[in-house]
Amino acid sequence: MEDIKAPPALGDPADGYWPAWAEAADLPTFRVRDTESSHGRYSTALKVITVKDLVKFHGHACDGLFRGALAMSQVLAALDPSGEVDRTDLKVLSRNSPCLGDVAAYLTGGRVRFGTQDVRPDPGVWFVVQKISTGEAFAVEEVPGTYPPRLSAMEAELALAGRASPREVDQLREAQWAFVRTTLLTTPAAALYPVRALPGFVFPPVPYAHVGPRTDVLFKRVPLA
Ligand SMILES: [Zn+2]
Repeated sequence: MEDIKAPPALGDPADGYWPAWAEAADLPTFRVRDTESSHGRYSTALKVITVKDLVKFHGHACDGLFRGALAMSQVLAALDPSGEVDRTDLKVLSRNSPCLGDVAAYLTGGRVRFGTQDVRPDPGVWFVVQKISTGEAFAVEEVPGTYPPRLSAMEAELALAGRASPREVDQLREAQWAFVRTTLLTTPAAALYPVRALPGFVFPPVPYAHVGPRTDVLFKRVPLA
């Protein structure tokens, strides 16, 4: 069995999963509306989700999570300029990436098992988000060339080799964080993640045999007693 050494702690030891520099970074936050119980109704309060929360859901901080969060901030703002994200009313498509699929599910409420989330092999950072109630849909896609080709090549090389030395793993992460800090967080998100409307978009059926009803949304519009 390989000897797996613990990497040096990042940031506050109390939450070592979170890079110290990210604490001061200008990252998007998301105000989400949900239901209040298993059979409705709409919650009257909004919750705030941060990128740090996303890391807890996803399992690690990574460039994909930061890129996905920035892209999602743009497309969700187009869907609802008030800044409110109704997680009972969205369908989402993304690349079949562990990181982007998690961003999609957590921030939109879309799930494969409800037929409201699916993935595609198309490369890049992109999402298509559709409002179920109105059919409005928008796509967002990272401007090609934003992610340094040198980093894509490093990732492809390691994946192809099927093995990586401790130094290679560290070098890749350092290079990814350098990209996040010097490019991603210093460029307006609107410039890196343009959004376009998709009039008449039809969400493709999700080919999953066990799709079931989402009961908490059945009575979401029942008023308070
Ligand atoms: Zn990730």
